[in-house]
Amino acid sequence: MASTGKAFAPVVVSIVLLAGLSPQSRGPESDSTGVTIMALGDVNLGRSVGQRLLKGDVAYPFLQIRPVLERHDIVFANLESQIANRGGETQHPRDRYRFCAPPQAAQALRLGGISVVSTSNNHAFDYGAEALAETIDELSAAGVQWTGTSKDSVDLFPPAIVERNGIRIGFVAYTEFVNRGKGWTGTISIFEQSRARREIAHLRKKAEFVIASYHGGTEYADAPSRGTLAQLRALVDAGADIVVGHHPHVPQGIEWYGRGLIFYSLGNCVFLQPHNTWARKAFAVSMEVRRLGGSVRLAGIKLLPLAVSNQPTFDVTDGVADSLYERLRRLSTAEITRKDKYIVVNRGDR
Ligand SMILES: [Zn+2]
Repeated sequence: MASTGKAFAPVVVSIVLLAGLSPQSRGPESDSTGVTIMALGDVNLGRSVGQRLLKGDVAYPFLQIRPVLERHDIVFANLESQIANRGGETQHPRDRYRFCAPPQAAQALRLGGISVVSTSNNHAFDYGAEALAETIDELSAAGVQWTGTSKDSVDLFPPAIVERNGIRIGFVAYTEFVNRGKGWTGTISIFEQSRARREIAHLRKKAEFVIASYHGGTEYADAPSRGTLAQLRALVDAGADIVVGHHPHVPQGIEWYGRGLIFYSLGNCVFLQPHNTWARKAFAVSMEVRRLGGSVRLAGIKLLPLAVSNQPTFDVTDGVADSLYERLRRLSTAEITRKDKYIVVNRGDR
């Protein structure tokens, strides 16, 4: 869907991506065109961003990062706000932790180059069941794939499967909790190990590479708790190739676990939380998967430092890139290397 009108993209992608990948990250055994995937953390299109969208500035949130997003075949993000028409309201008048994006947000995602979102997070029920259904409808109408919620119990938590260059990438999404009390059972995909195991096993029959989104953990913490770490790892045990965590609002470490790669927290993307230094710095994951000797595997991973705001940018100062590299090195068990403006996640002999 998002590839419409981007016939030139594969050429640009290979040039840009290869520039950041280590030479050993691409084996001679490649036997197909790869798929490039970007993963972004929390995107809140409510609050003041929502007000801009209501004024018609639909390009606003992704304006600065769109050129890089568009060079990827698939872009994933965690959509932290519901999308619904609330008559101009984008934040609850008496509760700043309840927010909602206007219907224009779906178009903003599409225009920004986002192809698939997780709708499973603690804000997924801020404005209730109707808004949850509206979110799904708006995303579908805009051509943005989604996973992590359900309108009805007939088709419970369908995964998103995106096919590019003959490779099928599957996405599932889970949240550790939901902020608002009752009524969401069966509409939001809460993490349950046994269900995750069944869903990912089923998805692996239809998709050749699986990315699991996990929303949970402790806000502003440097590292996941023992409990959160167990849940992140359980998703790899269930068969996910990549696990992307978010919700802490700050970037956390990276680990190779079994046959999978886990990002404990990507941090923010479109979010305004000026009170915390690390809520203003984050990274986007840029990865390439290729068909290698019959199976689809990760061929390269690099991280792009991101300056977070209501309109994030990759055009960061050296200070952001330096401090992010130091932080990730301190918090990761995966080996990472600084390479120009990027950080490369080394694959070793994987
Ligand atoms: Zn959250």
